Amino acid sequence: MTLRELNEEIKICRKCRLWQGAKNAVPGEGPSCATVMLVGQNPGAEEDETGRPFVGRAGKFLNKVLAQNGFDRTNFFITNVVKHATPKNRKPLQDEIEACLPYLTKQFQTTKPNIVLLMGAVAWMAPRIKGVKYIKTVHPSAAMRFTKMRNRFSEDFAALRKGMEC
Ligand code: URA
Repeated sequence: MTLRELNEEIKICRKCRLWQGAKNAVPGEGPSCATVMLVGQNPGAEEDETGRPFVGRAGKFLNKVLAQNGFDRTNFFITNVVKHATPKNRKPLQDEIEACLPYLTKQFQTTKPNIVLLMGAVAWMAPRIKGVKYIKTVHPSAAMRFTKMRNRFSEDFAALRKGMEC
């Protein structure tokens, strides 16, 4: 299955209740050959409007931290554990996470990244694929709000930069 075919499947997903309140599914975006994947929790209001991941406040913050570390987000495949927005942006429920995780597994298998950055506790639940390095960091929304988390978030991207140098 190609990433494009997978995206089409995600767009019409009805595996849990979340599609009912959402305008758009947000499968993720980025090159199918991306060596690094970023995984968040679930799309928020702006993402629901546009069908694109991390385009709201947290996304702008993420872009800023990426740029500070010499990265361009268009080189990364960016997605979320849960592909539909949740009511009032609540944390996704366990059954919603479980229903959606197979899509993330397929995205890992199709893209075959070297490194996956898991942003936040929900993303830490992502399935692990052999041969892929997983880095756990905090969610950009938390990093935006709390200095300690912001420092950790920046340090993890700096470490990612170092890990990619040859
Ligand atoms: N927060 C997330 O976890 N994902 C998004 O796409 C936007 C905000």
